[in-house]
Amino acid sequence: MIQGDIKQSLLPLVWVSMPEKKTKYLIVGGGLAGTLLSRMMEKYGQDFLLVDKPELSNASRIAGGMFNPVVFRRLQKSWMADEIIPFLHDFYPEFEKQLGKQFFYPRKLVKIMGSKEGEFWQSKVDENSYISKELQTYFPQETISHAYGAGEVAYAGNVDIATMIQSWQSCLNEKGLLIPEKFDFESLEIDENSIRWRDVEAEKIIFADGWLVGHNPYFNFIPLKPTKGEVLTIEVPRFSSNYIINKKIWMLPVGKNLFRVGSTYRWDDLNEIPREQTKTEILEALERYLKLPYKVTDHQAGVRPTVGDRRPLLGTHPEYQNLLIFNGLGTKGVMLGPWFANHFLEHLEQGNDLMPVVNVKRFQRGWFRKKSQNLNPKS
Ligand SMILES: Cc1cc2nc3c(=O)[nH]c(=O)nc-3n(C[C@H](O)[C@H](O)[C@H](O)COP(=O)(O)OP(=O)(O)OC[C@H]3O[C@@H](n4cnc5c(N)ncnc54)[C@H](O)[C@@H]3O)c2cc1C
Repeated sequence: MIQGDIKQSLLPLVWVSMPEKKTKYLIVGGGLAGTLLSRMMEKYGQDFLLVDKPELSNASRIAGGMFNPVVFRRLQKSWMADEIIPFLHDFYPEFEKQLGKQFFYPRKLVKIMGSKEGEFWQSKVDENSYISKELQTYFPQETISHAYGAGEVAYAGNVDIATMIQSWQSCLNEKGLLIPEKFDFESLEIDENSIRWRDVEAEKIIFADGWLVGHNPYFNFIPLKPTKGEVLTIEVPRFSSNYIINKKIWMLPVGKNLFRVGSTYRWDDLNEIPREQTKTEILEALERYLKLPYKVTDHQAGVRPTVGDRRPLLGTHPEYQNLLIFNGLGTKGVMLGPWFANHFLEHLEQGNDLMPVVNVKRFQRGWFRKKSQNLNPKS
């Protein structure tokens, strides 16, 4: 009788104080950033749990998912292309093999020339090894109009990010490593050497919450410039191609006669609601080269987590050593993500320095400024 009483009075106490799940890293956000980071953790043999509520932000799931080592405006190699491109060509196929799903599609990218662009292209072929030496005709002109020819970009392609995320999350779910819920900051407790969130205790928490970092009280000091983008899916019954076609607007093959078409950039109207006006703009640009009948079958919008200086955001909170961030993949998440997830893990697990241009430290004054102004930096 006495024993029973003791048991009854102790049980709730024990339940409250013992976390049910212990891990090293709690990752918040399972878009592209959280997916690549958690996959890299698995590769490094590190414990993690992933919290993701997909309905909150869909940038990764609707993105074109292309990678392209060339910046078209200047026809230069894109930032770090020579390191990043070979890395991703190893990373994604290995990930595919593990998950038993195809989502990596290396493709040639065909850039349609305007009347004066051919000369500029040819002036760059010696310094940019990713662009073709010759301009060519790729399609009958009555299908894709390219009267001044087109140039080809090598080592480009696309990742079907939605399929990759879905396969990864079902794998994590089977292993009990996925928490498909909304992370709430009210339940976060921060100690010197650990954090607790609900029944989870972790050594560190890493936020990979995309553009919603603007609502994250610990990291909203970062000058994010989120960029809304919209994309259409069209069916072109009399056309198929393996090339990505680009002239202002890209056209990406995603199945027989099916193409994704986009994209747009807006810094206002930050929501995931597609606009009719944007659809019209995309189709007007598309029809400058697509000369065949087509049907629009889908229209989606998302918000990219873009930083003013266009570099990823990695590292530790200026004040709380067990709060970290992996974000800022911006317009080039598919290219930058794998290399920088690896860079981050080398930093976390081997103590390598982070590149200063990506380290969140570059913005830490924002946090301390808020504090010195006596504002609550967490609001
Ligand atoms: C129209 C469009 C086209 C694009 N095309 C390309 C392209 O061709 N190539 C390319 O490389 N990039 C492209 N991008 C950019 C690419 O989508 C981004 O770089 C990438 O998706 C960013 O991923 P992320 O994981 O940081 O953010 P997100 O995709 O926003 O993922 C964040 C995740 O965290 C979850 N989350 C956030 N807060 C919480 C919380 N409190 N609790 C639980 N879960 C939470 C969200 O629901 C989401 O699942 C495009 C983007 C758009 C919008």
